[in-house]
Amino acid sequence: MALAYNSLAGRDIATHIHPQTNLRLHEEVGPLVVSRGEGIHVVDSDGNRLIEGMAGLWCASLGFDNARLASAAYRQLQQLPYQQTFAHRSNEPAIELAELLLARAPEGMSKVLFQSSGSEAVDTAMKLVWYYHEAIGKPEKRKIIGRIKAYHGTTIASASLTGLPNMHRGYGLPLPGILHAACPHHYRGAAPGESEQDFATRLAAELEAMILAEGPETIGAFFAEPVMGTGGVIVPPETYFEKIQAVLRKYDILIVADEVICGFGRTGNYWGSQTVGMAPDMVTCAKGLSAAYFPISAVMLSDRLYQVIADRTAFFGGFGHGYTYGGHPVGAAVALEALRIYDEIHIVDHVREVAPLLQDGFARLGRHPLVGEARGIGLMAALEFVADKETKAAFPPERKVGARVADALRRRGVLLRALGDTLVCAPPLIITPEGIATILTALEAALDEVHAEISAAGPVS
Ligand code: PLP
Repeated sequence: MALAYNSLAGRDIATHIHPQTNLRLHEEVGPLVVSRGEGIHVVDSDGNRLIEGMAGLWCASLGFDNARLASAAYRQLQQLPYQQTFAHRSNEPAIELAELLLARAPEGMSKVLFQSSGSEAVDTAMKLVWYYHEAIGKPEKRKIIGRIKAYHGTTIASASLTGLPNMHRGYGLPLPGILHAACPHHYRGAAPGESEQDFATRLAAELEAMILAEGPETIGAFFAEPVMGTGGVIVPPETYFEKIQAVLRKYDILIVADEVICGFGRTGNYWGSQTVGMAPDMVTCAKGLSAAYFPISAVMLSDRLYQVIADRTAFFGGFGHGYTYGGHPVGAAVALEALRIYDEIHIVDHVREVAPLLQDGFARLGRHPLVGEARGIGLMAALEFVADKETKAAFPPERKVGARVADALRRRGVLLRALGDTLVCAPPLIITPEGIATILTALEAALDEVHAEISAAGPVS
C-alpha cells in the first residue's frame, strides 16, 4: 500500500524516528496513528475502535479518558506549571505525593526521590548503590547484577542492566561491571523433571557461584522485576526470591525491586514485591504511578540507605544528582490523583476479582496447538508460541508467528504486543469481565487463523 506523502502516515514516515521499531519496515508499513481514547479503547485516525490490551506500554492503568486525571493536570498547570526540587526548593504536590507514596510503599521505605521515567529511576538507583557503598568505605562494591531477559530501561546504564540482546547490539553494551544472572523461567530453563522449587534452589546456587567467582566484595546490588514484563511475563518459580535473597543478604548485596510495571496493582497486590516475597532495600516505580497521564517516576529507599547517603551529601556539601523535571508539580499532582483513585476504586480488589478470568482464559488457550506455554499473574499474561509442543522447539523467526497473531488480533479490534513469538497482554486495570471476554474471543479466533495458515504452509523445517 503506497502511503500518500501528505497523509498523517506519510508525514510520520518522512520525519519521525520510532523507538523499538524496524525503521526500514516502518517506511513500508507506516504507523498506527491513535487519535483518542475511550475507557480501555483507543480510536485510530481512521475511526477504528480498538481495545488497548497492553494499556499502552503496561502503563495506562486507568484507561484513556479519565476526567479526574485530566482536571488534576489542568488545575496544576494553571496554579503552578513548574517548580524545581533542587537546592531546597519544593512544591506542594511533590510533598503530598511523597507522603502518600510512602504510606503505600513496600515495608521499610522511608524516603522518595522523583524523576520522569522508569529508565531514569533505574539509573538513579544504580548511582545510589555506588554512592552508598562509597560512603560506607566499600567503593569497590560496584558491580550490579541483573538477569537475562530482564528489562530495566534504555539509558546507557539501565539498558546495560537489561538482559535482552537487542538492547545491547550495536551499542557495545553492557557496560563493564554489569552482570546477568540466569532467567527464572521454569518452562525454558528447568531441567527435565525439575520442580519449581528445585529450579529455584539451583538458580540460587548458580547466583552464589557467580558472586563467589566475581568476588562478593565487588558486588553492590541485585536488581529484579518481581515479575518480568518485557522479557515475556515471566513469573518466578516458587521459593525463588526467598532463596535468591538469602544469598544476597549473606554477601551484603543490596536488593532493588524494579516495580515500574508491577507496582500499583498489576500483579494483584499493590506491589509486585508483595506478590513474590521480595524485601527490597530500594524500589523503582513509574508507569502506573500516574496511570501514564504524565511522565513521572520515583525511587524509594530504606532509612538505612538514606541515613548514609544524607551524611555523605553533608560531607561533599551537596547531592550531585538531579533532573530538571524531578518532582514536576504537574506530574506529582496527576500521580497524587491516580493514587487517590486507586484507593477509592479499590484497584487491588478489582484486579483480584477480574484477574482469574484473564488467567483462566489464557490457561485454556494454552491448549491451542500453537501455544507452548500460557503464563501470567494478576492482569499480566502471555502466550509463547512453539512449532512443537512436545520438544518446545521455537518457530523459525522469519515465520513471524507472534507478529502475525498480533496482526490478526488487531483486525479483530484488539491490540496486544508480540515480543518475538511471545504475545503479551496487560490491559488497563479498570478492565471489566466483558472486556476480558472480548479479548479472549478475539485471541482464540486470531490463533485459529494463524494456525490454519501455518498448517497450510506445511511442516516447519
Ligand atoms: N523498568 C521496567 C521494569 C520497565 O518495564 C521499564 C519500561 O518498560 C523501565 C524500567 C523503563 O521505563 P521507561 O520506559 O519509562 O524509561
